[in-house]
This record gives sequence, structure tokens and C-alpha cells, in this order.
Amino acid sequence: MLREKDLQELLEFEFTHPVLSVYLNFDPSRTTTEKAKLHTRQMLKPYSDQNADDVEKIQSYLEHEYDGSGQGLVLFSCSGENFFKTISLPIPVRNRARLLPKPYVKPLAALLDHFGHYGVAIVDKQGLRAFHFHLGELNEQEGIVGEDVRHTKSGGSQVAGRRGGITSQTGYAEELVERNLRESVEFAARFFDQNNIRRVLIGGTEAITQRFIELLPKRWQSLVLGTFPIEKTAGHAQVLERAMQVAEETKERQEQDLIKTVITAAAKDRGTTGLQDTLQAVYAGNVQTLVIEEGFRAPGFRCTNCGFLSASSIPECPFCGSSFEQIEDAVEMAVQKALLDGSDVEVVNPSPDLKTVGSIAAMSRY
Ligand SMILES: [Zn+2]
Repeated sequence: MLREKDLQELLEFEFTHPVLSVYLNFDPSRTTTEKAKLHTRQMLKPYSDQNADDVEKIQSYLEHEYDGSGQGLVLFSCSGENFFKTISLPIPVRNRARLLPKPYVKPLAALLDHFGHYGVAIVDKQGLRAFHFHLGELNEQEGIVGEDVRHTKSGGSQVAGRRGGITSQTGYAEELVERNLRESVEFAARFFDQNNIRRVLIGGTEAITQRFIELLPKRWQSLVLGTFPIEKTAGHAQVLERAMQVAEETKERQEQDLIKTVITAAAKDRGTTGLQDTLQAVYAGNVQTLVIEEGFRAPGFRCTNCGFLSASSIPECPFCGSSFEQIEDAVEMAVQKALLDGSDVEVVNPSPDLKTVGSIAAMSRY
């Protein structure tokens, strides 16, 4: 199970040699273990000369030690430091291999950010069930049941007609609901605290969830991602499915916002769109955030002397006059360079907006 402290350890280790970071997708709905291993061999090929030891260690792990559990696997290898670490993940990751001065932990951080420490409270008039989901798995669940409101209500209808009966009984029922809700809120806040919850979802009827949120302490209110209708007796698999759905939607929305921001910046000369201009920005080290559509690859050309990247063939390098060599994937080159420069690299789901401008865009540093 991935925890924040795993990231911390990776970040704090002092590497004096480059680290090979490999992310593998073992999502059974998209691949088989054998296919994934084959794909890994292809992905590691570019590193098999200079980083033969790391490549061998990773492949040996996959062949002899990996038990096939989980839907994603991350490996960090730095033979120079005798460093080797694997992290198995219950949710899939995108395939990628990166050779950088430090472990490439950003996708792990993003996973924790998007799918880590969800608190879900299913609430009704009487009580609450609280869940802690972490990376798509149930960690903890607890519940609280207050005084039965329905019972009182039916009592209310029996006394209908008596002087003042309905009003006082209804008033009493409302009071009881309010009291139960307050207890539920208190319980939920404590549960969220104990489980280091970072995002909150509330399930139940609209009226109840709204009142519940009103009663929540401010710092939890600000972490509420949304509400959804659900039976309080729903199984935890159903609750998890709903939570993951909201997580996906939120991630999707954030990606769309980022794409819009970058494209807008480019239109105002604070960024670039399309391969050619973006490659130049990357080469110049002027990229704060690089956004690429998942799976986007494009052949290109690289100056054999200074590393200048170009989408199209030019007779000689505009900077140093040297000749160009053709490279299989200029996008991957750009990603490596951007990461080395400390830029943010975001690989996003296919988006019509991004496709229109050439599947790649960048926001400038200055
Ligand atoms: Zn050059």
C-alpha cells in the first residue's frame, strides 16, 4: 500500500547516479501479465546499453519475484547506489520509463492526490456510516445509529386530530433528526481526523446531506467534493464505486481546466501549442508546465551537437550549424528534457481542445 512516507523516503534519498523509474500498467481489463512484461522489455530498450544493470534488475524482478498482484507496479532502480524499490498499486498507472537524477515520483504523488484518503459519509435521519477509502480500497468503516425517527413519526400520525398533536409531534421529529445529525457530524469529523482524510463525499438525500454539510466544521466543509443519493444500507463496494467515480470526474475536470489554462496562456504569448513551437520552448528551458495528450508520439529531429529539437527536418541547426539526426519520438525527448529542467509534465486523457492545437502545449516560465 502506497503511503506518503514512501514518497518522502524516495525524495529524501540522496542519489549521485541517475535513477531509472518504471511505471507499469497491469490493469487486467487492458492487458495480460505476459503482454505487460513484453511491453516493459520494449520500453526499457533505450536504457539497455548505458543502464544495463538497472534494466536487468527490473526484468529479473518481473520474471522471478513479481507475484502479479495489483493493477500497477512502480520500480525504481539505481545500481550506482545499490538502490532498488518496488511499489505495488491497487489501481492502474500509465506505462512509462524515465531516467532522471532523482526518482520520478510525480505520478505517485498524483495518484495519492486524486485517489488517496477519501472519506465517505452515508447519512440519514437516524445515523451515519463512515468509510475511509485509500487508492481504491476500503481501509476502515464505522457507523453510528441515533434514535429512530420513523418510529416517532408513525406515532405522530396516530395522534393526528388531538389538540396540538401533529405540530408538536412533527416538531419533535424534526428536533430528533437535528439531534441525530449533530451527533453524526461529530462522529464523522472525528472519523475523518483519525483517518487523515483529504477529500470528503456525502451520500444521502439532498435535504439531509445539505444540512449535514451546514453542520460540518469549516475545515471539513472545504474538503467536501460533492454529494450523491444512495441507500444507507448500500454495500461498501457500491459506495467505493461511487467515490471512485467522483474522483475520476474531479480529475477529469482538473485536467480540462489545466488544458484551457495552458491554451489561453499560449494565445496570450505566455506559452506554446503544437509540436514545433513547444519543442523550441522545451529546448530553451522555458517550460513551466508541459501538457501532452496520452499516447501522443511524433518522430522528429535532434541536433547532433546541441540537442536542439525540431518537428521537421532542417538542413542545419539554427543555433550551432551542426547536422540533424532523426529521432523516433520527439515527444518523449521533450518530456525527458522538461523533467530534467524541473518542469511540470502532465499527461492528460484525450481532449478535443488539446487535439485541435496539436496534442501538445506548454505554459512558459517567463
Ligand atoms: Zn545545434
